Amino acid sequence: MADVLVLVDHVDGVVRKPALELLTLARRLGDPVAVVLGAGAGGAAGVLGEHGAVRVLVAEGPEFGERLTVPVVDALEAACALVGPVAVLVGSSADGREAAARLAVRLGSGLVTDAVDVAAGGEGPVVTQSVFAGGFTTVSRVTRGVAVVTVKPNAVAVEAVAAAGAVEELAVVFGEVPAARVTSRTPRVSSGRPELTEAAIVVSGGRGVGSAENFSVVEALADSLGAAVGASRAAVDAGWYPHSQQVGQTGKSVAPQLYIAAGISGAIQHRAGMQTSKTIVAVNKDAEAPIFDLADYGVVGDLFTVVPQLTDDITTRKN
Ligand code: FAD
Repeated sequence: MADVLVLVDHVDGVVRKPALELLTLARRLGDPVAVVLGAGAGGAAGVLGEHGAVRVLVAEGPEFGERLTVPVVDALEAACALVGPVAVLVGSSADGREAAARLAVRLGSGLVTDAVDVAAGGEGPVVTQSVFAGGFTTVSRVTRGVAVVTVKPNAVAVEAVAAAGAVEELAVVFGEVPAARVTSRTPRVSSGRPELTEAAIVVSGGRGVGSAENFSVVEALADSLGAAVGASRAAVDAGWYPHSQQVGQTGKSVAPQLYIAAGISGAIQHRAGMQTSKTIVAVNKDAEAPIFDLADYGVVGDLFTVVPQLTDDITTRKN
């Protein structure tokens, strides 16, 4: 069976959920071979084997922490030379897209970014994308070289399957030392909530929320569901919520199982970032709000009445 390389996103050996999704997708195409880089990489091997990785290629050099992206590309290039894969799957984070693009250039290969699905095809992987603010779905196939594909989080439900997970050290020849070096890192203070782009459920608030203090209503619903909190640009521009949580064309793109929009009108630029969510629920006091055109479930009502009731009901059912 053909090998499929998967670049594993991890923090000190703790594998992030999108990487397990990539392994699940990779199994459709062939035998997944995981590439884990940087500090603590070796610690990830067990989980990767439990999720279908036949081989785990590990490189832990300090270069991965000290330099930007290029060492990752050096490592992926080395892994491609070693394995000869039919495809390389990378997560669609900013770093992932950059590494994938640089790798594709080096290999002279075709690249498809922001895939929402990947399937096996007779002449190579068939990749589905949602484009033009979710207005169109495209299906394409790389016709030159190894297919390099970046995949959005939540494209598939993670499936655990035991595989050999044989650990091998990956020998990497690093290129020239680049001008830019990472001199320090400051971890972001954790909110305790899931990362916005990876969360299975997102609850977002818009201008209808009315103030920064009122966002506690949105946060309470999110916490009852174990969800991430998002915001429209209007709410972010008003200073009610951080830009890091903005959903939309100039914010983050999310595709959770469930997206709840409270006090959000559904402007095209907001839809661009959430339209591929599996189930969309809208709470808005204006029955004509465009968000209802794409919502699977809509509640016409005041969010300050509806959302706390929902939170109470969910909390009661959980207890
Ligand atoms: P509004 O459009 O003002 O809607 C507020 C809604 O809340 C209304 O529908 C109202 O009926 C409802 N409401 C009010 N009070 C209540 C209540 N008590 N209970 C229930 N409902 C209530 N926007 C984004 O979100 N993300 C982006 O990334 C983004 N990028 C942009 C990029 C460009 C280049 C441009 C030009 C715009 C961008 N925008 C973006 C802005 C976008 O056009 C909209 O202005 C914005 O999405 C509106 O946010 P909103 O829905 O929260 O506010």
